[in-house]
Amino acid sequence: MSMFSLWSNGYDPLHHVGEASQHDPRFQLAALAYNLRWSWDQGARAVFDAVAPEEWRRTSNPVAVLDAATRQPGRLAANAAAIAAAHADLQRYLAAPPRRPGVPSVAYCSAEFAIAECLPIYSGGLGVLAGDHLKSASDLGFPLVAIGLLYRYGYFTQTINEAGAQRERYEHLEPTRVPLRPQLDRSGTPLLVGVPFPGRTVWARIWVAQVGRVPLYLLDTEMEQNREDDGWITAHLYGGDQDTRLRQEMVLGIGGARLLRALGEPRPRVVHMNEGHSSFIAMELARERIEDGHARTFDDALLQIAPHLAFTTHTPVAAGHDAFPSDLVEAYFAAYRQLYGIEHEQLMRMGRRDQNAAWERFSMTILALRASAYRNGVSQLHGIVSKEMWGGVGNGLSDVPPADEMDAVTNGIHTATWVGPDMSALFERTLGAAWRERPDDPAAWRAMEDADPGELWSARTAQRARLLDRVHQMSLREGLGGLSPEIQPDRALVLCFARRFATYKRAALLLEHPDRLARLLGGDPERPVALIFSGKAHPRDEPGKAVLQRVVNAARDPRFRGKLVFLENYDVQIARFMVQGADVWLNTPRRPLEASGTSGMKAVLNGAVHVSTLDGWWDEAYEPEIGWALGRGLSDALEPDARDRAEADELIDLLESQVVPAFFRRDDRGIPADWLHRSRASIARLSPRFSTHRMLLEYAERIYEPAGESSGVRVGASATPR
Ligand SMILES: *Cc1c(COP(=O)(O)O)cnc(C)c1O
Repeated sequence: MSMFSLWSNGYDPLHHVGEASQHDPRFQLAALAYNLRWSWDQGARAVFDAVAPEEWRRTSNPVAVLDAATRQPGRLAANAAAIAAAHADLQRYLAAPPRRPGVPSVAYCSAEFAIAECLPIYSGGLGVLAGDHLKSASDLGFPLVAIGLLYRYGYFTQTINEAGAQRERYEHLEPTRVPLRPQLDRSGTPLLVGVPFPGRTVWARIWVAQVGRVPLYLLDTEMEQNREDDGWITAHLYGGDQDTRLRQEMVLGIGGARLLRALGEPRPRVVHMNEGHSSFIAMELARERIEDGHARTFDDALLQIAPHLAFTTHTPVAAGHDAFPSDLVEAYFAAYRQLYGIEHEQLMRMGRRDQNAAWERFSMTILALRASAYRNGVSQLHGIVSKEMWGGVGNGLSDVPPADEMDAVTNGIHTATWVGPDMSALFERTLGAAWRERPDDPAAWRAMEDADPGELWSARTAQRARLLDRVHQMSLREGLGGLSPEIQPDRALVLCFARRFATYKRAALLLEHPDRLARLLGGDPERPVALIFSGKAHPRDEPGKAVLQRVVNAARDPRFRGKLVFLENYDVQIARFMVQGADVWLNTPRRPLEASGTSGMKAVLNGAVHVSTLDGWWDEAYEPEIGWALGRGLSDALEPDARDRAEADELIDLLESQVVPAFFRRDDRGIPADWLHRSRASIARLSPRFSTHRMLLEYAERIYEPAGESSGVRVGASATPR
């Protein structure tokens, strides 16, 4: 098959290189489309909007823009100068010197990545964090490559039925219709990676999403060479049963290691596992050490690679940690484990906390801990909680943990991805280019403390208006009659709650006092308040679905109609609208179950005021001057039900007595000066601290650099020890 036929539009940027084509606007537009840097570059997005506004707005997919431009070349000619300028800017971006020279090469593995809405291979916070990790690594010039899976049916598209219940729809993704390229081998044919399965090899081909300077390699088993059921391994994200999950994690981990080998030298010096889904990568890296004669036993091999492996755990909720029964592990690993000469029982020990507890299942988290010298949680509080949960697990078969057995690197967000257009323009006027170039630098943001309140208010109002317009349109489309007329963008207070409907996040806490909530939303025409919800429940999380249904039905209740709205199908696009338009970002997890949370970080960057339980990142960020905290002074020993009741009371009290009055307290210019003081202080103090640039620089200093310099070996056995 000719590679060219893979490209619906005939412009494979890989094959379209030569001096002449560099100046061809079609080539330039393809180069812009196929580098996902557009997902955080307003300039490139403005070009797509100019070339094919209808296609761009409908699909948020630049490959559709490219197709439209191919059909109507006049559009290219009309925009040639803008295309050339954006292309030149991308080239400058790609060539910029690294911010911190000397960071070792890293392979970053994750089951999900959220880069842009046209690549639906994520479900929530873990994926968003991974996507933002890659974007900051690219901006900073870290030599990082990423490994994930291409889900043809992704996560699900959510709709709501008449009863207010969630329905899930799965749409097939055609990789050649989105910004993905096939990875080729030296002979120019698609690279295939084989993963050992019982009695056969399962093949994966590799798609590359180019994220600025970082390549994201996605393994995909939907191909003719595979048995039909093997083609389904990478079909759904977090779908299927344990069997499917295990097979998926074999493709991600073992396939990921084999992919690194197939990509050739130089091999990454550090492997970073984002959550335990990829931890089989350690088994394959260890197997290579044995095969190449660097290690005699499997345990030796694990001890050799551990100094180069880092593991980040993301949840204190038990269901978030995969664990497989012994017979399932044996069914898949019986032949594979013989490649490194170990018995089933020894393999099981790698996945057990108490190695001799025959009843313990094989935990992917324990394997990750046993394989990694560097382990961390994702907020300071979560670091402490994780140490309690996972303490005492050593490397290999040792039960003596590394000296620093659980570090904490607090999560962040990628500033340029989440900032809204009006706030971005305000930052540019107030701060110059510094906030873009060094978003992690507190000095770059300091002037926001004294930003002009009038200008801040107009930027906030413009972003609020964009959200309310969207909510109104969606509510009409869903047959819910739109927003009430008093919800006007220049007057209303907009409260937002958006996240996965996991029960510990307690989305319905506000509905515990329906009469008081109804008064808050509708009691005073001078003080219009809107409350907007969005979020998906995992398809098999029945309690989570019940909470969702309760919220949806509240949105249909005449007491709340037009003021309490539920937006279907929460994804990164809806998230952007919400975090950019919200005045108040609500977060109500049951402490300490929210490892970090990041949506609040996105909202405060855009000038929202955060109202949240003291959990995750807010536990370390909260100051009375900038936002509000729930559950202060409640004992960690309180029973969950009692905590829920206490915090439900506290939340509605707080909104009635402090939050709503503060927003409507206006000065003689009609501006809520005290409110904006909180907003400015939040932006100035929290944006740099909770950026992924700060996070990546911390990973570099505390984990990547020491792991890369370890005197052992490279991960990947073919290289000789230094
Ligand atoms: C930011 C984000 C999340 C994570 O939000 P939390 O605060 O961790 O709940 C989840 N989903 C989407 C689409 C996001 O943009």
